[in-house]
Amino acid sequence: KGRLFLCPTPIGNLEDITLRVLKILKEVEVIAAEDTRVTRKLMNHYGIKKPLISYHEHNKTKKGEEIIKLLLEGRDVALVSDAGTPGISDPGEELVKAAIGENIKVVPLPGPSAFVTALIASGFSTRRFAFEGFLPKKDKEREKILNNLLNENRTVIFYESPHRIVKFLEELKEKMGNRRVVIARELTKIHEEFFRGTVEEALLKFNAEEPRGEFVIIIEGVSKEETDDISLENVKEKALEKVRE
Ligand code: SAM
Repeated sequence: KGRLFLCPTPIGNLEDITLRVLKILKEVEVIAAEDTRVTRKLMNHYGIKKPLISYHEHNKTKKGEEIIKLLLEGRDVALVSDAGTPGISDPGEELVKAAIGENIKVVPLPGPSAFVTALIASGFSTRRFAFEGFLPKKDKEREKILNNLLNENRTVIFYESPHRIVKFLEELKEKMGNRRVVIARELTKIHEEFFRGTVEEALLKFNAEEPRGEFVIIIEGVSKEETDDISLENVKEKALEKVRE
């Protein structure tokens, strides 16, 4: 059987690719890529010539079967996405599951991911964090997730596209209050920028400009004292209820 290599690619700066990823991309027989044009550019930059198969959100069932067939025939396949780590808010999960189901060896390679890159420079706790990725599109589902995060102690990380960032910040303000946030924009690129402040301050900034580029939004976890307060309130409330009964 062949092996399925999961290969992270740069999230902006083309130099952020490991020597091992380059070696594997040169060695495998086929590269499965989210957008073949994007991957072709990277391959040209590094002088890699390999057959590409397109594997993206909308063809992943059919193409996934083809890739598994290749692997079962003994071919090594590398999976890449447009940027960062495949399987992280990108296609990959299903293919990995299918490969495991067929006893195919899955080899993950470490490399860049936008959320870790943003988190380590956030200045918020990196000891415990929750990665939420993109919120679902439906309002009800978004609301449910944000409600569940109300008392979250851990640092919370989101991905958001530029045209929805203002809506997202408004929802955050409404559901979670005026929390401290870090918004990492265009990581590893020329216009890399970190906004640090409250959600309200972020709204002032992003309402005043047309948000462009790629964003990671990080929210500071609720401090222990705050949750203790909340739980104390709850305890009091519950005790009062008992008395009233
Ligand atoms: N697989 C990728 C990873 O490992 O980070 C994530 C892919 S997801 C489709 C794209 C989202 O990641 C963007 O909308 C943005 O939220 C975030 N992102 C990717 N590159 C970024 C960058 N250079 N700066 C800030 N955010 C980035």
